[in-house]
Amino acid sequence: MSNDKDQMLKDLTAQEKPTTEKAPESAGQVSRRNFVGTAALAGASLATFSAAAQTREELIEGRQGNYASDPGPQNQPLILENPNSHRPVFTNHGSLPPIWYSFDLTSRRIQGGGWTDQVTQRELPTSKALAGVSMRLTAGSFRELHWHTSDEWAIVLTGTTRITIMQPDGKMYIDDVGPGDLWYFPAGYPHSLQGIGPDGTDFLLVFNDGSFSEEDTFLISESLVHTPPEVIQKNMGWSMDSFNKLPPTQLYIFPSTVPPSLEEQKRALGDRLETVNKYTYKLSQQTPDVVRTGGSLKIIDVGKFQVADKICAALVTLKPGGLREMHWHTDSDEWQYYIKGKGRMTVASTGARARTMDFNANDVGVVPLMTTHYIENTGTEDLVFLEMLRTPHFISVSMNSWIGALPDNVAVAHLKLPLSIIRSGPQTELMILPK
Ligand code: MN
Ligand code: MN
Repeated sequence: MSNDKDQMLKDLTAQEKPTTEKAPESAGQVSRRNFVGTAALAGASLATFSAAAQTREELIEGRQGNYASDPGPQNQPLILENPNSHRPVFTNHGSLPPIWYSFDLTSRRIQGGGWTDQVTQRELPTSKALAGVSMRLTAGSFRELHWHTSDEWAIVLTGTTRITIMQPDGKMYIDDVGPGDLWYFPAGYPHSLQGIGPDGTDFLLVFNDGSFSEEDTFLISESLVHTPPEVIQKNMGWSMDSFNKLPPTQLYIFPSTVPPSLEEQKRALGDRLETVNKYTYKLSQQTPDVVRTGGSLKIIDVGKFQVADKICAALVTLKPGGLREMHWHTDSDEWQYYIKGKGRMTVASTGARARTMDFNANDVGVVPLMTTHYIENTGTEDLVFLEMLRTPHFISVSMNSWIGALPDNVAVAHLKLPLSIIRSGPQTELMILPK
C-alpha cells in the first residue's frame, strides 16, 4: 500500500489545501472529486461544514486508518489478492459492473481424460463479446469431434495438442500445436483436439460470443445416435447392430491412446490432406511488434493469421512496474486472460465511473467498449496477459498520442497545465511504458 500512498500524496499536493472536509464513512468515498469540490468552497461559508477540518495527511490517514477499519469478518486470502478492491484507490467513483473473474472460481467439469472451466457472460456479466474456456487433456485423451456456432481462437499453455479440422471441401488439416502457439477454427468447421505425450496439454479457447457454452456444441456422438437407425443404415451403410454399438450419450472428453507421429497421420490421409497451413500459427516464434524497456508486445490479427478474421489479440509482457499505456478500443469490448504474474487495471467509463481491480494468473478481465484502461505490473516477476478483441484488426487509441497531437492551445485550455509539462511526457503511442 505504500506506493499507493505515495502516489496519492503526489496527486493531492497538486491541489489547493482544503480547510475542511466532511469525514468519510469509508475509504472508498474519499474521491478526488469531493476533495477538489471542498477545496473550491474553502473560501466560502465554512460554517456550513459541521465535520472537523481535515488536512491532506488526515485524509490519507482516514483512508488507511480508523475510517477504513473493518472489524467484521474478512476473507483474508481474497483481500490479499485484491488490495485494490478491498481498499479502493481514491480515484474510484460510482459503480461499474465487475471487470474481473477467475477460472479458479468456475465449476470445473472433470471426467475421464481431463477437464474444462469456462468464463462466459453467465459467470461474468460484462463478458458479452467474447467467452473463454480453459481445457486440460491428458496424454492420448480427446475432446470429442464437434463443431459450434462461434469461431474458436486458441493458445496452448502447456504440452502439445494434436488438432484435426475438416474444411467444407472435404480436405483435412492436421497439426501439432505447442506452448505459446495458436489455432483458429471458423464456425461450423468440424474438429477434434487430442493431448499427446508426454503429459498431454492445457490450452485456452476464446469464442466470439459471450454466451458461448462448452455444454452446447454439436457432437458427433449425439448427431448420430439421435438419427433413426434406418436412416443411419441408408446414410452410412451401418446395420442396426452397429447403431446399437454407437456411444449412446456424448463422450465430450475421454481417454484414448497417444496417436502415431504427425507425419504418419498425414501420410495416411493421402490426397485428403490439406497441405496449406491456414489454421495454426506459431506465435511463440513471432518477433515482438513492440519492444520497450518496460516490456514487449506481439499483435496477432488477420494481417498475419488470415483465417482469424473475427478475433484478434495482443500478447503483452510487462516487466515489474511496466505499464501497458492508457488507451481504448474503437470497435470491440476487450477480453483478457492473465497467464503469469500480478497486475492491476483501471477501467474509466462515462459518468465519472471508474474501478480498479487486481489480476493474477488464470484470471479474466473485461474492458467494455471505448472505456479507458491501462494494465500495470504490480508484482516482482513479468506480467504476461492477452488482450483479445472481437475484430479482424487490433486497433487502439492512445491517450498520450491524442494529447501529443493536440494543438498547444487546445491542450493547455483543457489540461490547465503549463505547456512544458504537457510536452514533457510521451507524445506518441508507445504501447508499453517503463517503471
Ligand atoms: Mn471447438
Ligand atoms: Mn486494451
